[in-house]
Amino acid sequence: MSFLLDIHELPRRAGEYREYRLDLLLESPLGLDLISIDRGERILVEISATSVDEGVLIRANLRGMAKGECARCLEPVSIDVNQDFDELFEYPSKASALSKDEIETDEILRVEDDHVDLATPIRDAILLALPVNPLCAPDCPGLCSHCGVALRDVEQGHAHDQPDQRWSALSALAEKLKEGEPRDGR
Ligand SMILES: [Zn+2]
Ligand SMILES: [Zn+2]
Repeated sequence: MSFLLDIHELPRRAGEYREYRLDLLLESPLGLDLISIDRGERILVEISATSVDEGVLIRANLRGMAKGECARCLEPVSIDVNQDFDELFEYPSKASALSKDEIETDEILRVEDDHVDLATPIRDAILLALPVNPLCAPDCPGLCSHCGVALRDVEQGHAHDQPDQRWSALSALAEKLKEGEPRDGR
């Protein structure tokens, strides 16, 4: 999908600025595996674009709602994204001395005709705002390693006094082997 911002109304004279507002419906999710702003959700980007000598300086605030699941207990988690970002888009004339290959590997953002492409800054701002390991609560106790129940939902001191069925089957087998040992050995 397109994240182009049309800035043809912005005079290319240093110090001039315009304000813009993008209300975008996402066509594909933006974020991380465990948490992202989903396809079909909106993001709101409020932008002030200022002409500077070398290009256009974008200062923006991005808001949206990210949803995912807790990395410990897998409960649904939602996070209000409210992230600022600044980005300088340079005029292409600055790049004229570089070869085509250099331009392509270059990470400098360019003003293209009368627009700037906010795809990379928007993606980066969302990544910056999201935790790699989202948690339903900072102290989420996660799942019981024994039975898999969410420990938040069970009474304090949840424990397993009884050995697991599989282990009791194994120890019964061990007992049997021990009993059989002397006879088989001779
Ligand atoms: Zn959790
Ligand atoms: Zn348990």
